[in-house]
Amino acid sequence: MPVNEPAIVVSPPLVDAHIHPDKTSWGGPWLSRRAARALPEYIANDVRVQADYLASVEERTVSLFRTAIANGTRALRAQVDVGPAQGLTNVHGVRAAADRLAGLLDVQIVAFPQQGLLTAPGTADLLDAALREGADLVGGIDPVGLEHDLDGHLDAVFGLAGAHSVDVDIHLHDGGEIGLEETRRIARRAVTEGLSGRVTISHAFAVAEATGDDLLHIADVLAESGVWLTTCALGTDPVLPVAVLRERGVKVAVGSDGVRDAWTPFGTGSMVDRAHLLAYRTDAITDVELEQAWDLCTRSGAELVGLASHPVQADSADRLEFDAECLAAVVVDRPAPARVVRGGRVVARAGTLTG
Ligand SMILES: [Zn+2]
Repeated sequence: MPVNEPAIVVSPPLVDAHIHPDKTSWGGPWLSRRAARALPEYIANDVRVQADYLASVEERTVSLFRTAIANGTRALRAQVDVGPAQGLTNVHGVRAAADRLAGLLDVQIVAFPQQGLLTAPGTADLLDAALREGADLVGGIDPVGLEHDLDGHLDAVFGLAGAHSVDVDIHLHDGGEIGLEETRRIARRAVTEGLSGRVTISHAFAVAEATGDDLLHIADVLAESGVWLTTCALGTDPVLPVAVLRERGVKVAVGSDGVRDAWTPFGTGSMVDRAHLLAYRTDAITDVELEQAWDLCTRSGAELVGLASHPVQADSADRLEFDAECLAAVVVDRPAPARVVRGGRVVARAGTLTG
């Protein structure tokens, strides 16, 4: 290469495996947040903030998704609230946003019972309706910590999955032995319900906190049952020990979680930033460790959402191009892609959509 010619790094596109677009304030005025300590307080703040937004779910979601696309995201799994406060409004809004961006972004919608499935009356019926009206997966949340009924919660979630032939993605913030037991029970249900490879545990704080033999045992349970984990590398939250988990055969993908919503003032919707945060939180030092963070945000995410993932070439129809020395440098410097190529066409340059 001539000395002065800038280096170009080519990468497969990014995939955001866990994002909450319906909650975001993106594209609107600054949102000042109330403090919260426990989950019920966060949820109450979230419901109030969503009700107060002037822009629709569709408008805010389009705004956030356009930013994600411009920063190289090709597909995402959206966790969308379904419950007494929102009914199906958020599912309809995110689906409408996804339809407007068809051809640029593939969107999976998880019908997510943020306010509780058993504890918020009517939510089971709403989830059932959501799965008929635009949602692709059924979600769940803290069967013990929020719902206080492990069997009842899993029966409801897996019952809906069976009835609609859809995959499952459960938020699990419960930690310690309780969280590990919930993890084992979800893994067992994945096998007995014939859903190996089609069940995700999001956040999985109990796995993130596990050490020594506890970690190795739970990793083996997850690998054998084909249960996916997603992590977001947020703040002081426990972050999954991705290297150990992958060595044991556990599938892991990465997402943004909430972006500038009632829960957090942070987040950009860029998976370049998320790869950086994951690498930072997992103490990546070597190029191999930095590249692993990138791989989790690209190839692993693609596998999770069912995108074909081919080794990327300089002329691949779907690719990202960075003006950078190497991928490890991209993870550290987190530049926007110089070019986002989708279907053989440049759709964004330097973090801005071309159309
Ligand atoms: Zn989440």
